[in-house]
Amino acid sequence: MAKIHQLSVDLSNQIAAGEVIERPASVVKELVENSIDAGATQIDVRIQDAGLSLVQVQDNGSGIEAEDVPTAFLRHATSKILTTRDLFNVHSLGFRGEALASIAAVAKVQLETATESGIGTKVAVEGGQMEEPQTVAVRPGTQIKVQSLFYNTPARLKYVKSQQTELAKIVDILNRLALANPQIAFTLRNDNNLMLKTAGHNDLQQTLAGIYGVNVAKAMVGIEAEDLDFKVTGYTSLPDTTRASRNYLSLMINGRYIKNYQLTKALIAGYGSKLMVGRYPVAVLDIQMDPLLVDVNVHPTKQEVRLSKEDQLGDLIEQAVRQRFAQQNLIPDALHNL
Ligand code: ADP
Ligand code: MG
Repeated sequence: MAKIHQLSVDLSNQIAAGEVIERPASVVKELVENSIDAGATQIDVRIQDAGLSLVQVQDNGSGIEAEDVPTAFLRHATSKILTTRDLFNVHSLGFRGEALASIAAVAKVQLETATESGIGTKVAVEGGQMEEPQTVAVRPGTQIKVQSLFYNTPARLKYVKSQQTELAKIVDILNRLALANPQIAFTLRNDNNLMLKTAGHNDLQQTLAGIYGVNVAKAMVGIEAEDLDFKVTGYTSLPDTTRASRNYLSLMINGRYIKNYQLTKALIAGYGSKLMVGRYPVAVLDIQMDPLLVDVNVHPTKQEVRLSKEDQLGDLIEQAVRQRFAQQNLIPDALHNL
């Protein structure tokens, strides 16, 4: 008798979910990235019990057409790429078509969505099983409620840390997404407490003030550098405004928050001996490049990327920071609109 069989769709989705949805903060990241890709200018996140009972994301983006709603929850179903060529030329945060399928495999999901012209659609998916979609009258945009995360995967639930730790991870990822998107107004509420609010006026320094406080934002200087391949803009703190960890450094590549040790090291190296040992700046650098120079399809969460010309980019960042602090005049850039 044959011993090898193909796993059911539900089970394979649960397995795949393990890679994309590690914890409540992964749900927040995936849903908010979808809202960003949908062109939203306002994104409101509500959580309860650090996201374990509820993660709700509401946006005013493009919405999903009624006929596309069931497909959106299938694995590898995406509106963002079509061909292999697109895979190496990604202009959106998502493209793997895994998030909604993964979330719906390990939680209870309710979706309400409407496009500008179309009628609204409402659907519930639980443990991968979708109910019949219904027509509803809702404003254009999308609202997704994710409840009872990991209710059917107890091993994963056990692995989740204290609510305090999980909440900190949610705040952290939303901070980075807000810093990468100063043109979007974000709010985060945990059990009705407002944890984050950004104005969405497309002013990075103002967004920095909303996240790290006005005093930190005031102690930052603008960075600008460009070569044939890269354009780097952003803010980094004066050498006397530092933190004890690298967690306050954010690198964005084409609007995507990424983690990259070498580039972080380059930024720090630009300070030379101006930083005390064990102290790190607060910084946000936005790096624009041809998508062909970056492979984002390295890891399911897409926070690690593979860069061509990484050394060249590191040198550009290091030099830009060094030159900024070599200037006589270290007066921070004036804060406006605060
Ligand atoms: P991906 O983002 O990689 O395409 P997802 O599973 O996250 O995959 O989403 C599947 C599809 O559902 C997306 O490609 C998009 O078309 C649609 N979608 C998901 N969330 C939203 C949203 N907030 N607004 C509009 N469309 C959405
Ligand atoms: Mg997505």
